[in-house]
Amino acid sequence: MSTSAIQRHPTLPVRIGDIVVGGNAPIVVQSMTNTDTADVAATVTQVADLARAGSELVRITVNNESAAKAVPRVREALDARGIGVPLIGDFHFNGHRLLTDYPACAEALAKYRINPGNVGRGERRDSQFATMIEIACRYRRPVRIGVNWGSLDPELIARMMDENARSASPKPVDAVMREAMVQSALESATRAEALGLPRDQILLSCKMSGVQDLIAVYRMLAARGPYALHLGLTEAGMGSKGIVASTAALAVLLQEGIGDTIRVSLTPEPGASRTNEVVVAQEILQTMGLRSFTPMVTACPGCGRTTSTLFQELARDIQDHLRAQMPIWREQFPGVETMQVAVMGCVVNGPGESKHANIGISLPGTGERPSAPVFVDGEKVTTLKGDSIAEQFLRLVDDYVKTRYRVR
Ligand code: SF4
Repeated sequence: MSTSAIQRHPTLPVRIGDIVVGGNAPIVVQSMTNTDTADVAATVTQVADLARAGSELVRITVNNESAAKAVPRVREALDARGIGVPLIGDFHFNGHRLLTDYPACAEALAKYRINPGNVGRGERRDSQFATMIEIACRYRRPVRIGVNWGSLDPELIARMMDENARSASPKPVDAVMREAMVQSALESATRAEALGLPRDQILLSCKMSGVQDLIAVYRMLAARGPYALHLGLTEAGMGSKGIVASTAALAVLLQEGIGDTIRVSLTPEPGASRTNEVVVAQEILQTMGLRSFTPMVTACPGCGRTTSTLFQELARDIQDHLRAQMPIWREQFPGVETMQVAVMGCVVNGPGESKHANIGISLPGTGERPSAPVFVDGEKVTTLKGDSIAEQFLRLVDDYVKTRYRVR
C-alpha cells in the first residue's frame, strides 16, 4: 500500500489521559455517545462498544445534575471492565455549575469541551467561562474550545456584522461568519491562557456543516495558532450523504496536514450501531495512508462478467471476518492491520490486483472455469475449486496472518 508523505501542520501536543493529540502524535479517532449519561449501564455499554471499535477518546454529554452524578460511576464501571478509554465531558449552558458542584465528575473526566457560544450571556459569560477554566487548571485537565456554527456567540456575530456594515469595503456575509468562528475560538483560547490554562492543554475546533466553510475556517485556524485541532463536519447527516460529506471535508484538510483528532458526526440509521462513525473515521485515515487500523479488502465493483453473488458475499464476509478478528489479532499479530486482501470478480483484473495484495483471490466470472486462483505475496500458490471456495479462502487468510505476522 502506498503510504502518505503528508507534512503535518505543527501543533502543540496535548495529553488527554494516556492519549496524546497533536505534535507528531498519530491522528486520533474519537466519537460521542448518544445515550442518556444518567443511564450508567447504557452509557457504559456504548462507550465500551465505541472503544472496542477503535475510538481512542469518547465524549459524553454532561447536561444536568443526574448526568454529572453518573460520570464517576461510568468511569468506575469502565475501569472495572479494563476499558481505560479517556472520557470527555461535553458542557453547554451549565458546565460552570456542574463542574463546581460535582468535583468527582470534574475528576473523572479527562477533558472538558466548552462551547464559547453556550457559556452564558453578557457579564455572566466571562465569569462562567473563567470558572470552567479555573477548574480545568485545578484538575490539570485539557479543554477543547469547541465553536459550532449552530451556536456561534450571538454577541460576537452581531458586533462583527455591525463593523462589517460600517466598513468601506464590506465582506460577504459568509466571510464574516467564518471569521467570527475563528475569532470566537482564538479569543477564547487567549482568555483561557490569561486565566492560567497552559497552551498545551488547549485544543480548538470550529465545526460547520458546509464542506467549503469547514475547509476555509480550519485553514484560517491552522495559520493563526499553535493549538491542536479537532476536525469534524458537524451535522454531517445520515448514510452515504454523511459519509461522503465528512470524507470530502476531512480529506482535503488532512491532505494539507491540518487536523490532530477527528470525529465523524453521522446520524445513525434507525437500529444501526453507533460504532459506524468510528469505522468511517478509521477508514478515512487508513485509505489516505495516515494510519492503519484493520486489514483492508480491495474488491472490484463487479460487472456483467460476474453474475453470481459469490464474489460480493466473499468480499463482505472477508471484511466482516477481518474486523471481528482484530481485537485478538491486534495483540497477537502486530502489523496485521496493514495487510491488504483482494477479492476480485473475474480474470480481467483479478490476477493482477491479487498479486498486488498480501493475499488475493480471483473468482470465476460467468463462463470461466469454476476455479479461483489464490495469490500470496505476488505468487500464485493454489487454485480453489468446488462449493466451498469462500470457506477455503477464509482459512488461507487466517493461515497467512498466523505465519506472516507471528511474533518471532
Ligand atoms: S474484475 Fe472482472 S468482474 Fe470485476 S469489475 Fe473487472 S471485469 Fe468486472
